[in-house]
Parts: sequence; structure tokens; C-alpha cells
Amino acid sequence: MTVSFLTLMLFAPAPVLVDAKDLDVRFVIDIRYATSDNFMHQKLYPVARCLLRPEVGAMLGRAQRYLDQHHHGYVLMLKDCYRPHSVQLQMWAVVKGTPQQAYVADPTPGSVHNFGAAVDLTLADAGGHEVDMGTPYDFFGPLAEPRHEERLLKEGKLTAAEVAARKMLRDAMVKGGGFKAIPNEWWHFDAWQGKALRAKYEILDVPLDAIR
Ligand SMILES: [Zn+2]
Repeated sequence: MTVSFLTLMLFAPAPVLVDAKDLDVRFVIDIRYATSDNFMHQKLYPVARCLLRPEVGAMLGRAQRYLDQHHHGYVLMLKDCYRPHSVQLQMWAVVKGTPQQAYVADPTPGSVHNFGAAVDLTLADAGGHEVDMGTPYDFFGPLAEPRHEERLLKEGKLTAAEVAARKMLRDAMVKGGGFKAIPNEWWHFDAWQGKALRAKYEILDVPLDAIR
């Protein structure tokens, strides 16, 4: 090994983003924005990859280990992770001024996804099947909002099994991974929010296929 190579090894910067598949091969990758099967009805990502800040990826690994311990056989099915800022601008242009605007972050402060610090995900069971959460991923409406779950359960609009499955996902992400849940999307979790997020990271616009 030459001295220059050693120097390179010692001083190489930590990767900005890591690929979830390199952290746990069991993760199911189902990135809808890499297909036209999404609310935009167009392919927004060149590749189906879940990229995250290294620390956020480690948290996701802990969420999976929580499932391994408490709900053996279930695995995390990843729907969206780091989202380049230019894609946020594309989404905003479509939803701005429509009822869907409430479900897409304004690109000026940015979405937590733009920082590489948010994950959209669900569960797959031991047979590899997506677990029923009462609505599909990216369903825009009260039925997808955790803050209304108890009422929707009483009204018979969500089943006990669907609410229990959402709780399993939340427990894994919050208790196991240390993520924060949000009140209006059952699939979305933030590693950090607000000032803590901005103190730690900046918005990125690296294309998904540009990361090694
Ligand atoms: Zn999200």
C-alpha cells in the first residue's frame, strides 16, 4: 500500500448519504417516485434507492432490530428516503393552490426528506406481503392521519388490525429507532425536526444516481 493511498484512506470524508440496502439487505425497497405509480403520475427519480444520512441510516437499522426482537418476521418496506430539492420544487409546482398542498412541504424551508433525514415506510410480513395499514401510502385524507385513528376506529372506518399494524410500525420507528412520528401521515418519520435538523444538516440536491 502506498503512502498516498493510506493518506486517502485516513482522510477520505465520511459519505454524505448511505444506501439503506448496504445497512440491512432485508429492507424491502419500494420507491414509488422511481415509477409512475405515485400522486404525481410520473417518474421523478432515475433509480429506486433509499439514501439517508449515515446517522439516520443507523437509526433505521435499530428500528429493524426492534422488529426482530418484538415482532419477529416483519421487515421495513421503504417508500421514500432522501429526496433531492429539485424534485421537491417539481412536486410543489403541481400541488400549489390545490387541496393536496397540505401534504407536500414548501420547498423554501424544505421537506425533511430534502435533508436526507426523513423516511416514508411501511411493514412487510414474513411472507413479504405489504401489511394493510387502512390506506395506501401517500393517501391524502383524514383516514391516513394518526391524530384521527381512535375516532376512525370507533366509527368502524379503520379496523383494530389496521390500527395495531400502524402502532407496530410507530413502536419500531419511535421506540426502536428514535424517530419522531407526525400527526398527519402514518408512513412518515423524521430523525430530527426544526432547529435541531437545520443545525445538523443542510438541504441537498445531489441526484439519486450520483451517490456511489
Ligand atoms: Zn414523508
